[in-house]
Amino acid sequence: MADVPIEFDFPDITRWRAGNSGTEFVYVFESGAPGPTVMVNALTHGNEVSGAIVVDALLDAGLRPRRGALILSFANVEAYFSFNKDHPFKSRMVNEDFNRVWSRLDQPGDTVELRRARLLRPFVERADMLLDLHSMHDDCVPLMLAGPLEKGVAFAQKVGTPIDIIRDKGHPSGRRMRDYGGFGDPASPKAALLIETGQHWRASSVVVAKDVTARFLALTGVVDAADLPAGWRQPTPDTQRVVEVTHAIATKNGNFTFTQRYNGQDTVPRAGTVLGHDDDVPFVTPYDDCVLVMPSNHAVKPGVTIVRLGRVS
Ligand SMILES: [Zn+2]
Repeated sequence: MADVPIEFDFPDITRWRAGNSGTEFVYVFESGAPGPTVMVNALTHGNEVSGAIVVDALLDAGLRPRRGALILSFANVEAYFSFNKDHPFKSRMVNEDFNRVWSRLDQPGDTVELRRARLLRPFVERADMLLDLHSMHDDCVPLMLAGPLEKGVAFAQKVGTPIDIIRDKGHPSGRRMRDYGGFGDPASPKAALLIETGQHWRASSVVVAKDVTARFLALTGVVDAADLPAGWRQPTPDTQRVVEVTHAIATKNGNFTFTQRYNGQDTVPRAGTVLGHDDDVPFVTPYDDCVLVMPSNHAVKPGVTIVRLGRVS
């Protein structure tokens, strides 16, 4: 794959291999004072490097919690280490999507991702609050995936950025880490957020990842805002909006093309507007003021979601 932007050096995370938790690439820091257990995770997808830069920087800075406990982790490290500049998108995963295995941890199966998820499970189960750092295949506007529950939306609103909060049900192909256990239970006070920072290797994605992580950590109370690296916080947007996902549109045979370039969270005013063609079959917006969530211009495999449709709620 040519012409992909790689605007920063990838961090050498091998120095964090030993961890301090008994599990490689997982650190747990206890404050000894009462407070929540808070987890910041990177590399759920191996080529989503902005999050790895953030966790690497927090470990390097020696950030420690004042209250509760702080877990810092790198998830799909094997995928990260498989990165090849000639095929940069392949290092998203090794055998399967780490973020679809969380309903199958106790079932048979021995993929790289299932093994790693089983190792991470006790940390995810312990966490009261989780921030999972992701980025995007295409150059798209950042968004926060708040999950299906009101508590996720409320949490995203407290973080205060980015502008777009996406309320969605996840994927029929398997549960995400951010929906696992108490995070997906409306009766539990636990809450998780998933940030999509922008294109995987854009410098701007690192800026977004740092901003959201700094806000998240200060909000949880495990650290004070002044404990975080200087310069991470960015200006707060005037408003946020909540987009409720209504449809996930998949390409039948991997031959979907959009009629124009969309940047993400574009609003299409009129129902019946042709967005693109799947195998020459026109695809139209089903209602007025339809928001296009994370449109993908690179879907080449049958069955892959190429865009989600949503309404501002
Ligand atoms: Zn991802």
